[in-house]
Amino acid sequence: MFSGPSVFSGLDPSLIERAATFIRSGRLVAFPTETVYGLGANALDAEAVARIYSVKGRPPSSPLIVHVASIEMAESLAAEWPPLADRLAQKFWPGPLTLVVKKQAAIPAIVTANLATVGLRMPAHPIALALIQAAGVPLAAPSANRFTELSPTTADHVRRSLASSSSSEVGLILDGGPCQVGIESTVLSIVGPGAVLLRPGGISRSELESVAGPVAAAQEVQAGPHLAPGMHPRHYSPRTSLYLPENGNVPERGHGIYLQYRCPAHRADVAIRQMPLSAVEYAAALYDALHQADEENYDWIAVDLPPDGAEWEAVRDRLKRAATK
Ligand code: AMP
Ligand code: MG
Repeated sequence: MFSGPSVFSGLDPSLIERAATFIRSGRLVAFPTETVYGLGANALDAEAVARIYSVKGRPPSSPLIVHVASIEMAESLAAEWPPLADRLAQKFWPGPLTLVVKKQAAIPAIVTANLATVGLRMPAHPIALALIQAAGVPLAAPSANRFTELSPTTADHVRRSLASSSSSEVGLILDGGPCQVGIESTVLSIVGPGAVLLRPGGISRSELESVAGPVAAAQEVQAGPHLAPGMHPRHYSPRTSLYLPENGNVPERGHGIYLQYRCPAHRADVAIRQMPLSAVEYAAALYDALHQADEENYDWIAVDLPPDGAEWEAVRDRLKRAATK
């Protein structure tokens, strides 16, 4: 029997007000964004933010993204808001881009894992924006799942993942339907002299470069444990073992499912799920396909890795992490 937080759907003002009241009183609310569902707390309340880490089982060395409802709100949380931040925010917000900038002292250290910087993002989802506005505070929010597990892209994924959380921690889950982007935000650091891509995501590197000029990859710079926690080698993983076979060479044994891109599987007796051929649609479908495969209790999941093109960078990144033991 399910006994976790309740799910409520829609953009009903009285529901948003109720959720905002939970946020102001230091409790958590799970809410939809265009990327994945978030587990939000008042970013200015250290005790509330501590509940996020405890519900997720997230190590304190992983900083949280702070969600805002306007560029002005972002600016008020940044110690420095360089012209490049403004150009990027004007172009890509609301949307799946997190900007890492120097933080204001008002943001508690627990939010940023003691870093002097903060990741800021304005999500493109009416429910997320309405919640931030109604609460009147920025929301610290990682994905609404247990640490290292698959990110949720539906309210039902959240409900199952947080089923063991007590309702004194998570006030409620707002249901906004399936996430449109379906993969986490791009994280771009603009604290140094050049822009550094800490995590590929919903906005592609070439889109960024059209505004920011050349963007260095995180691998090219020092990636310390705190610099980019989304870069934990194992992350975004289903419970079922996941393989990335070449040329359709799926495992010989067991009953598995093959997420096909173009290459057919070598074994005929496996379940096949044809994935979308466009990168945008593939990203939107990926986590749901993995959640479903987990539900169906296969011995393994094999994924036909999409090609090595620029638009596939985020999808390939998530699949490689999901395949890491
Ligand atoms: P998630 O688990 O999806 O919430 O991941 C949060 C992501 O935000 C991580 O992958 C980090 O790369 C990034 N992040 C948040 N805050 C910072 C920060 N201050 N410095 C660097 N990366 C950050
Ligand atoms: Mg996450």
